[in-house]
Amino acid sequence: MFPFTYTRPTSTPDALAAGASGGRYIAGGTTLVDLMRQTVERPDSVVDIAGLPLGGITATRGGGLRIGALVSMSDAARHRLVRTAYPVISQALELSASPQLRNMASIGGNVLQRTRCTYFRDVTAACNKREPGSGCAARGGWNRTHAILGTSEACVATHPSDLAVALIALDATVHLAGVDGARRVALGDFLLPPGTTPDREHDLRPGELITAVEIPAHPRPLSSGYLKVRDRQSYEFALTSAAVVLHIADGVIRTARVAAGGVGTVPWRLHAVERELVGRRPSPPLWERAARHAADGARPLTHNGFKTGLLERTVERQLRTVGGLR
Ligand code: SF4
Repeated sequence: MFPFTYTRPTSTPDALAAGASGGRYIAGGTTLVDLMRQTVERPDSVVDIAGLPLGGITATRGGGLRIGALVSMSDAARHRLVRTAYPVISQALELSASPQLRNMASIGGNVLQRTRCTYFRDVTAACNKREPGSGCAARGGWNRTHAILGTSEACVATHPSDLAVALIALDATVHLAGVDGARRVALGDFLLPPGTTPDREHDLRPGELITAVEIPAHPRPLSSGYLKVRDRQSYEFALTSAAVVLHIADGVIRTARVAAGGVGTVPWRLHAVERELVGRRPSPPLWERAARHAADGARPLTHNGFKTGLLERTVERQLRTVGGLR
């Protein structure tokens, strides 16, 4: 290990001041502690925000939902409002990590968690995300679990969060606070694809903190669900996943939101699939036809070509589950 200072502020302004001075925030610690042990991250100062008043799950006046950044994954997953109104969130959370980790990890931390690319976590390997300009060992290495969508020459790592896939499908926003004030950013704009700067993973300004995520109101009735495909049935990251959110009224699909995980450098919204669905009547041929667009634009690597077909089948199966008419 290496030396670092540890502080535990009890007010948000005190935490933001410490963050603005270069402190690295920690909440549940389920990502950062691992990365510090592996010396992938070596902060001089760690600011423990677990005692801040950033909890609570509340319905918003507009008919949406606000989840505090420090709510644990397990508390969010079993909350009545989440389970009844947005099962896609509960399911994504319950298919993540292990029960022990879900008890510790926070909603804000889950969105910000860093990639599971093994080369990123091996400090002897070339990795542009960890050390800009050093190269990408995954491109010529073992890349079976890596991304097929949103990749760049610099980086092909997947975003590991299941929750973020569900939130992207629900058009969620993140609430941010910093010493210069508060702001809100659509999650789809907040998480950044690698481009030429894979070390820059999100639109978080120095010292800023996620205070909450907000799901906007959606037309009712709303059907939603999350399907995750992985190498084993527990404590494993997605090879592919699909979050499907449908508003069907008078027998017609009025709105469709579909996002994929395990395949993109960021949670990947499947707009071509959505376009195929909206305005049409649910039917098995429609699910199949729409799902054929799931991997549009994919650029497979040496070992992950199987993900294109697997993604199409994952999306089709989840459309059948959420939309009915299997
Ligand atoms: Fe690093 Fe990204 Fe390449 Fe993995 S895929 S080694 S995270 S640059």
